[in-house]
Amino acid sequence: MLNLILFGPPGAGKGTQAARLVEKFNLKQLSTGDMLRSERDAGTELGNRVKEIMSSGKLVSDEIVIELIETNIDNAESSVKGFIFDGFPRTVAQAEALDKMLAAKKMSIDYVVMIDVPEEELVTRLLKRAEEQDRTDDNAQTIRKRLEVYRDQTLPVADYYQDNEEAAVNKVNGVGEVDEVEKRVQRAIGKA
Ligand code: AMP
Repeated sequence: MLNLILFGPPGAGKGTQAARLVEKFNLKQLSTGDMLRSERDAGTELGNRVKEIMSSGKLVSDEIVIELIETNIDNAESSVKGFIFDGFPRTVAQAEALDKMLAAKKMSIDYVVMIDVPEEELVTRLLKRAEEQDRTDDNAQTIRKRLEVYRDQTLPVADYYQDNEEAAVNKVNGVGEVDEVEKRVQRAIGKA
């Protein structure tokens, strides 16, 4: 098993890099953002409960995302060689819950890769994504809020893992061509 957390602010390229790793190493991407968007777009009860929070740029409750993650781990095909956690955990409480959940399944996190991108570049990328895709949470005010939420609630998760002997945080430069960043990520997980 190869389990890794792709960590970083909105717009860092976590989803793009996760897709590359999925292809290459037969991993399953677990993106809570994608899961929540698909609930919202399907108009499920859960989707209706979270859609306003999502478009405000704030975080949905820990319970909701922890349950989504657990269900998706349990439903993964047995051929899967590991999991990429993308956009999760985003709070220390989520990180603690993930540790407990994995321990109960005799699993653990092998790598935490932080994709590092300066804030000005993130804003540029997110504004561009707003034009190209239908992401109601990529607009000027919400982008500011999402970056603030990242700093206040999500960055402490890096400190939580910093002291973890098995999976210390490995920072990679997220600026550059996607292929370049992919190589840096692979190096960080000992695959290049
Ligand atoms: P993302 O695509 O990962 O940026 O997620 C889009 C939105 O979904 C976020 O701004 C949050 O409102 C919500 N969300 C996604 N993942 C989480 C999480 N792990 N914890 C809380 N809220 C989340």
